[in-house]
Amino acid sequence: MQVLQSIKELKAFRESLGAQSVGLVPTMGALHKGHLSLISESSRHNAHTIVSVFVNPTQFGQNEDLSTYPRTLEQDLALCENLGVSAVFAPSVEEMYASDDEIAILPPKMMGYVLEGFDRPTHFAGVLQVVIKLFMLTRPHKAYFGKKDAQQVLIVQKMIRDLHLPLEIVACPIVRDDDGLALSSRNVYLSAQERESALCIPRTIERIESAINQGVLETKELENLARQTLDSSKSLTPIHIFYAYFCDHSLAPIARIKRGESLFLLAVRVGRTRLLDNLWC
Ligand code: AMP
Repeated sequence: MQVLQSIKELKAFRESLGAQSVGLVPTMGALHKGHLSLISESSRHNAHTIVSVFVNPTQFGQNEDLSTYPRTLEQDLALCENLGVSAVFAPSVEEMYASDDEIAILPPKMMGYVLEGFDRPTHFAGVLQVVIKLFMLTRPHKAYFGKKDAQQVLIVQKMIRDLHLPLEIVACPIVRDDDGLALSSRNVYLSAQERESALCIPRTIERIESAINQGVLETKELENLARQTLDSSKSLTPIHIFYAYFCDHSLAPIARIKRGESLFLLAVRVGRTRLLDNLWC
């Protein structure tokens, strides 16, 4: 496995692969089983998998956790090597952003500024800025993203369509820990007590899923059920609901679930940690 730190090395490596199929898995490192599932999916369908490990400063807001974000590169490299990854691209910030006043791509007006984008208005522009660079440098046939970050994968898919970029985005299922909590590099911030409280999140997802399976399709009713479940969970730690929202794949609100075309998006703060979960329904 190659470990590449410069753009020059990455370009030369990509050149050496020629026409063989390439899958890209963009990450911010601190790899867990969620990331590993994307890597495995890429390895199954491509001759080569490139994993990027880059804590992208442009997608963090001013008061966010850029400086404390977990960094575990040695461990990440060992995990990638075990999975047969062809190359890990782990550049410095200076390597990725040569200028501090670069061209950037704005996300769509609604999709980029609701939900996560409402509280974090510069977030998706930062994501698109780094993702398009990674696409240009690695020229993948397919790029793998998690459904865990539903808004992110939908916005990236829209960029592919709007800019006619020649690759396919593969959206992979959410991987959960044994207790049901969706895996996230940020889960390490949770104390044992906060983690216990956070379990009301997967419980809510499960309850919404089974209500839908029983034929409850009105989103008002489902939203009430979600809020009741979150409120009634005997939390040891106070939790704050940022949103519990039903929408279609353009993130427009919906009054009724249309099977296969709807989403339930949930963002909750437990202690000081913002946690996301969702259901593609
Ligand atoms: P991150 O390192 O948090 O930027 O995540 C890199 C990629 O892994 C993104 O496409 C995420 O959506 C995906 N991902 C993160 N957590 C999970 C999870 N629990 N299950 C599936 N994919 C995930």
